[in-house]
Amino acid sequence: MNFDFSDRVGRVEPSATLAISNLASELEAQGEDVVDLSVGAPDFPTPDNITQAAKDALDAGHTSYTSSNGIPELKEAIAAKLRGNGVDAEADEVIVTPGGKQALFETFQTLVDDGDEVVLLDPAWVSYEAMVKLAGGTLSRVDLAQHDFKLEPALDELGETVSDETKLLVVNSPSNPTGGVFSDAALEGVRDLAVEHDFAVISDEIYERIVYDGFEHTSLGSLDGMEDRTITINGFSKAFSMTGWRLGYLHAPSDLIAQAGKLHSHSVSCAVNFVQHAGVEALSERTDDDVEEMRQAFEERRDMLVDLLAEHDVDVAVPKGAFYMMLPVDDDDQAWCEGAIQDAKVATVPGSAFNAPGYARISYAASEERLREAIERLAEHDYI
Ligand code: PMP
Repeated sequence: MNFDFSDRVGRVEPSATLAISNLASELEAQGEDVVDLSVGAPDFPTPDNITQAAKDALDAGHTSYTSSNGIPELKEAIAAKLRGNGVDAEADEVIVTPGGKQALFETFQTLVDDGDEVVLLDPAWVSYEAMVKLAGGTLSRVDLAQHDFKLEPALDELGETVSDETKLLVVNSPSNPTGGVFSDAALEGVRDLAVEHDFAVISDEIYERIVYDGFEHTSLGSLDGMEDRTITINGFSKAFSMTGWRLGYLHAPSDLIAQAGKLHSHSVSCAVNFVQHAGVEALSERTDDDVEEMRQAFEERRDMLVDLLAEHDVDVAVPKGAFYMMLPVDDDDQAWCEGAIQDAKVATVPGSAFNAPGYARISYAASEERLREAIERLAEHDYI
């Protein structure tokens, strides 16, 4: 039959990164060795204590549904972790989700009606736009690219963009795709605007544990005035190298939790039972050393990449967190990325996917050897 598809799905495009990963797979199938710097997943195994906790939970028979918002031990561990960040959190203000993505999806669906204005800071992670459109919202955007991806110098522009009509702002620090980390002054600027215009803010803190140069992460929800208007999103994928486990959460004031909880229970029911038990272990201090080891490895790779690129006279905005870097490339970044993969066999993501044309996103969740190889190949084929 000819399906009559919903307007909703018609509003969004498949991820722009698909073209690149399809090309990479095609080349690999032909036996080519592709250095894949397009992935958003840490290249480390999940720490052993977490895996063991999942096995123990399976052996103990934790295989049925849990209460929809999550098992009490995990909600309490998450609330305690957030209190450690200065966020005034209680276990019943948490929904445990299958991945941070689902937490974001539920938040947009809960807050955004047709025509509501949502503000994004560009370059922005691809799925925010899609989720806003699926919810029927309209997008306003503030471009941080001309400010080296920093928010503080763009606060005036943000102030001109938001108004009493603004429903929601999305802040993602450390940022995918830029690796930028917003200063406390920038976050305070966000707070002042949110309070003045009475809008809510999603703070996506999924890269919180991957920060460099001795920097300490600040949770937006810990700022005075933000406690009743912040939805904190976080997850286990990046900090604990658990992308395939699908575990994340949202924290928000309880009236929002009550509404989002309806969506949660009518869609996913709950996050996977034994994975939630592994999540409790992940948040224990027994995992701290592994998290720190991964963080250090990312920091060393960042330093190495910045140096290697400097040797080729390529100047980048030095990332302060996450494991991404924006490489300035030709205006037609899509063509650059397609060329780089065809000729140099190096896969990156076009900046346009993040509303940042003229850049390619490099993920350095790859070994130092592979990163060196990538830069050599890009140089050899005149891409840098
Ligand atoms: N937010 C950002 C900024 C991300 O980069 C990602 C993963 N790419 C997510 C949220 C969602 O991660 P997950 O669903 O694996 O928790």
